Amino acid sequence: MTDIPPHQLPKDTGWVEVITGCMFSGKTEELIRRLRRAQIAKQKVKIFKPSIDARYSQDSIVSHSDQSLPSILISDINDVLKYSDDAQVIGIDEAQFFKEEIVHICNLLASKGKRIIVAGLDQDYTGKPFEPIPQLLAIAEYITKQHAICVVCGNPADKTQRKIAESDRVIVGAADIYEARCRKCHYIPEESE
Ligand code: ZN
Repeated sequence: MTDIPPHQLPKDTGWVEVITGCMFSGKTEELIRRLRRAQIAKQKVKIFKPSIDARYSQDSIVSHSDQSLPSILISDINDVLKYSDDAQVIGIDEAQFFKEEIVHICNLLASKGKRIIVAGLDQDYTGKPFEPIPQLLAIAEYITKQHAICVVCGNPADKTQRKIAESDRVIVGAADIYEARCRKCHYIPEESE
């Protein structure tokens, strides 16, 4: 839960923060918390999410625990540039669904003086690094890795267990399809014929 002390904030430039972890680790909740605080501080905030993720709402980012903030739905990460001229703080949720261009876009906007807060899954359901999040972690000034609780053993969980045997990397779902597991309890579901 990194809240950067004001005296340690970079001056005369923007920066990139990444909030990552498995599903149900509270990434969106933490994103919403940071964006709300920026709004309370009277900063201009813009929030984006990929159009692939319409699980809860078309026009808001919503956490599993039902916190929400109005957001702009985009299919192309370049659209962030169109809508964020006057924004001081830019939030991007579910960033694993964007192309690797997101790295360039975040760098560009941060260099223009904006604070960029990105949330996304760092591993896919098999435990492999989930591009472009690893690339974003590399260029970010600040990284927060959230943990969920393993539903099997209660360990801190950083892996997303898929409960159905489907091998597509992206299947949008929530507790119906996924649960949080630790390294010990996580496995890759075998494909049925
Ligand atoms: Zn476990």
